[in-house]
Amino acid sequence: MNRTSRSIVVLSSVATSFGIYKYVTSKAKNEKFQPIRSVSDHPTSIIIGAGIIGLTSAYYLAKSGHKVICIEKREDVALETSYKNGALICPSLLTPWANSDVPKKYFKSIFSWSSPTPTSTKIWPSTFFSMKFYRWMYEYLKNCTTKAQVRNAANLLTLSMYSRQCLDDILKENAISFSRYTTGSLQLAVDPVIFEQLVEESKHIDDIQIFSSPEEVIKHEPILISVKNRIYGGVFSSSDTNGNIYEFCCELKRILIEKYNVQFVFNEEIQDFIVSSTVQSHTGHQLRHVSGVVTTNNKKFENADNIILANGNYVMPLTEKLNIYVPVYPVKGYTVEIKTAPSIPLPKVNLVDDVNKLYISALKPTAQQGIVRVSGLAEFAGWKDIGVLSEPDRAQYLYEQTIAWLPHVASYEKVFHSCSRPVSADDVPLIGRCSNFDNLFINCGHGSKGWTLAFGSAALLADTINQKTDKTDRESLTSECYSPNRFQ
Ligand SMILES: Cc1cc2nc3c(=O)[nH]c(=O)nc-3n(C[C@H](O)[C@H](O)[C@H](O)COP(=O)(O)OP(=O)(O)OC[C@H]3O[C@@H](n4cnc5c(N)ncnc54)[C@H](O)[C@@H]3O)c2cc1C
Repeated sequence: MNRTSRSIVVLSSVATSFGIYKYVTSKAKNEKFQPIRSVSDHPTSIIIGAGIIGLTSAYYLAKSGHKVICIEKREDVALETSYKNGALICPSLLTPWANSDVPKKYFKSIFSWSSPTPTSTKIWPSTFFSMKFYRWMYEYLKNCTTKAQVRNAANLLTLSMYSRQCLDDILKENAISFSRYTTGSLQLAVDPVIFEQLVEESKHIDDIQIFSSPEEVIKHEPILISVKNRIYGGVFSSSDTNGNIYEFCCELKRILIEKYNVQFVFNEEIQDFIVSSTVQSHTGHQLRHVSGVVTTNNKKFENADNIILANGNYVMPLTEKLNIYVPVYPVKGYTVEIKTAPSIPLPKVNLVDDVNKLYISALKPTAQQGIVRVSGLAEFAGWKDIGVLSEPDRAQYLYEQTIAWLPHVASYEKVFHSCSRPVSADDVPLIGRCSNFDNLFINCGHGSKGWTLAFGSAALLADTINQKTDKTDRESLTSECYSPNRFQ
């Protein structure tokens, strides 16, 4: 089966299974929910990690009456992956990273690590000595079948649609100022094969416009006029947007402190847990209870009703302390920022070059400057040198690919950055309670889509912790699909 026909099979199955999924889950809506324990009115919840996932989790928990303490190893919020990402909030770009093209691509990358032309995916030689990598990769490859891809794509789609709605609600309820500029995403095709593929892949998304000529593409995004001869066609989705994740996180921190009295503890790294007792759940199971956490400075935070792990790339090593396996592996990526003069025209939509895995998004220009943010590339390099710009040549390659689309920004200053995506073994986030514990919860593994999925994930987590049965506001979304126990 060639790539196009395989895409057709996968995507029509996604559409069908999404329909079935909606039907089944809406039926399940009224089923009796079995609480595992009593929930107090104002529980104390400790959140480990203050990136976008920890902060949004704090928001929904504090809003529902929890006393929240957020513990972060860095000196402030959002200084790791949530510091500078690709900026896209993009429900339309959902293909799971675990997909049927992966085995071939990864096999190729093993033999091209020293190639002068960068491949979008690279496995560092040191990774081959890591048991953690092999264990994660084993689970990951199990999810690279067409059947798993269909299921995972449907779960991502449902969560991202819900997340988009949650973000709108948060912005309606709170005065949050952050740089947000683009309306929609335009996927660019350079030949008829890619065009057909993009059209097929987009069939299950609402609000899609197909542009079958360069003229139609240019009419929608005139900035591409100078590269018209590169364009065959494009697919536009109006539901996407973008925004500066770091600015949003800083604003959310302010609201959490001012409006919800959330307590932040910085410069403290959690290294262990205080497992105090075993309790019997309402269903008769024996569950362990984590009453607190211990930091590397030997500080203890005790008397917690709930512990929430929102520590991104570090969840796997930390949960080993509790003998839990959480398959979330760091996959390094690069961003490039091109800082232009304020008057320079910038793309009004996110531009996606799927062949080169290049994501281009302009942030809102200020009186001083315009910013084009570009992201891409995937490297399996493990935990060593997370956040270190180890290969500037690869970032330079991203930059050159960008200039090929936007030649008019070539003369401006560029800044390279690197950070790692916390990728779960099926590329669907892990949200929910760890099965052998009554009060240990996870919200991790959002991979390349954390900014898009954060709001829905946090709302779902809060509902799970609060044992909320009423799902009217999240119709077809059920927590089971995101359970952190699905790999056990
Ligand atoms: C190059 C790149 C481009 C991307 N582009 C996009 C995009 O365009 N759109 C999109 O939707 N997503 C994108 N993403 C993904 C998104 O940025 C991430 O999924 C998201 O930022 C992850 O958030 P997080 O809170 O889980 O992790 P983080 O932001 O890393 O936060 C985890 C926090 O936990 C803290 N921590 C860790 N261990 C401990 C401990 N033991 N004790 C205390 N604190 C601890 C860390 O210091 C950190 O602050 C991109 C990612 C990358 C790498």
